[in-house]
Amino acid sequence: MTEKKLIGIDLGGTTAKFAILNLEGQIQTKWSIQTDVTEEGTRIVPSIIESINHHLDLYNMSQDDFLGIGMGSPGNVNHSEGTVIGAYNLNWRTTQFIKKMIEEGTGIPFFIDNDANVAALGEQWVGAGNNEPNVVFITLGTGVGGGIILNGELIRGASGAAGEIGHIVVEPHGYHCTCGNDGCLETVASATGVVRLARDMSESFSGDSSLKESIDNGEFVDAKSVFDAARDGDTFALSIVDKVCDYLALACGNVANMLNPSTIVIGGGVSRAGEFLAERIRKNFEMYAFPPIYRSTKIKIAELGNDAGVIGASSLVLNQTFLES
Ligand SMILES: [Zn+2]
Repeated sequence: MTEKKLIGIDLGGTTAKFAILNLEGQIQTKWSIQTDVTEEGTRIVPSIIESINHHLDLYNMSQDDFLGIGMGSPGNVNHSEGTVIGAYNLNWRTTQFIKKMIEEGTGIPFFIDNDANVAALGEQWVGAGNNEPNVVFITLGTGVGGGIILNGELIRGASGAAGEIGHIVVEPHGYHCTCGNDGCLETVASATGVVRLARDMSESFSGDSSLKESIDNGEFVDAKSVFDAARDGDTFALSIVDKVCDYLALACGNVANMLNPSTIVIGGGVSRAGEFLAERIRKNFEMYAFPPIYRSTKIKIAELGNDAGVIGASSLVLNQTFLES
């Protein structure tokens, strides 16, 4: 008997990424389709089903070759019911019965969780988490998301909202957040948050800075421009990066003091700044973490890039099958 395979799906507002993986989390083949969000997102699930069935035909595989399908989705995911609601970038405003539709359409068991949790599982399993049982993941993208794995299990909490690290308040009465509160980590450490800080701080900076000049001239500035300028030694850009890293270190300190993970993995677009970012977070982390925790919790940059989603999604199948057996 050949080893069973897994299918991982990373559903986003512009593309849905698919992969077929072995039980060790290695990707054997991958593909993607565009996410068609028209007609209130009703075309999304049928096109996912069609794409899976088409690729199974293409590779001469059948339902029996698979242990299951796992998917990471935006929005509020009810993992036990297999439903999603409020995924606005997919135009899913009402409850979507994803599990039911995909299991009926493919004949393969299906599991789902939110995209940040799924990316956390991927990094914990075969990425920077080294398959250690206690790992926290923070993703710095358009927003800031998070996922917590303790004793090998994803922590979901009473309403499935555990691990919302982006909404830890790091600046009381700070910038207004999309969640309705003020001063959340997301308002200063997401890609848009970094730029907001840069614009605000540029008003009081009077020295020589190419970044400040770009902002004053109304040129396009994104998080990458801020980090690139800081790397080139621009003192104004460095002061923004230090501020962002201090906020991140504070959030990491609070999370670590409570959970003492072996690793906090930092991923998402902003984490492409790599060690330049990580070493600055580590420096301030020492100030905020209880000393025994500082000595045992590492801060690392994510390793899987765009594949974290499909890999972590596929691991939902294993976690679920393992729990049920
Ligand atoms: Zn918030």
